[in-house]
Amino acid sequence: MDYELNIVHLYPDLLNLYGDKGNIECLRKRLLWRGIGANLEKCTNENNYIDFKNTDIIFVGGGSDREQEIVCNRLLEKKTELTAFVENGGTLIAVCGGYQLLGKYYQTPDSKIEGLGILDIYTDSIKGDKRLIGNVVIENETAGKIVGFENHGGRTEIGSHSPLGRVISGFGNNGKSGYEGVVYKNLIGTYLHGPLLPKNPKLCDMILLRALKHKYPDFHLLSPLDDTLENTANEYIVKTFANQSDK
Ligand code: GLN
Repeated sequence: MDYELNIVHLYPDLLNLYGDKGNIECLRKRLLWRGIGANLEKCTNENNYIDFKNTDIIFVGGGSDREQEIVCNRLLEKKTELTAFVENGGTLIAVCGGYQLLGKYYQTPDSKIEGLGILDIYTDSIKGDKRLIGNVVIENETAGKIVGFENHGGRTEIGSHSPLGRVISGFGNNGKSGYEGVVYKNLIGTYLHGPLLPKNPKLCDMILLRALKHKYPDFHLLSPLDDTLENTANEYIVKTFANQSDK
């Protein structure tokens, strides 16, 4: 194969709420279907190793505060390398709990979890505040309408960073700003849980294209795939929830 990407799934043993793992399968399959190699490694609590030099895409999912704290402590050991990976244009996709821990801190109702500080963002979860739960539709310039599901107690402030999208329906980063997620270089942080990429093939291809161009500057175009089913499902969800928020 002329091209290949190495994908690392961070702590699937601890952070894998609502099947975040489906995103890994989607990344792999959409490469393989195009004749592009896709290798997968897992970094777990027990086997806590990442070969950063040979890694193109890192994915981290979400989970409970307890598991999030364990992961955060493990990742703090790799803070320098992970920061360099992002600064040098490596692709990092972080969902919910994984997204929160890239910031300066995550204040839970009971304790303050120190974050990795890769992003200039922070998250507060105040006792008594309701959790932000439900279906979400957001709009991103390149990927169009992105659909997903969110469930978080934390409210995230992204400061001067760019969001992943404008909220059409749902809560997003904090239920107030009207924005969801964050994009910094080739890092995407988002509250959209579960099989985000299978539900949003355009977003998946946007991520793959960026990662391929970063590794192979001569790489131009991903060949098209038949996404009729995925797009029909996506449009149905957009119609259902975006219209609901108009009422
Ligand atoms: N524990 C975090 C919160 O409740 C993230 C939850 C999650 O990953 N779903 O805000």
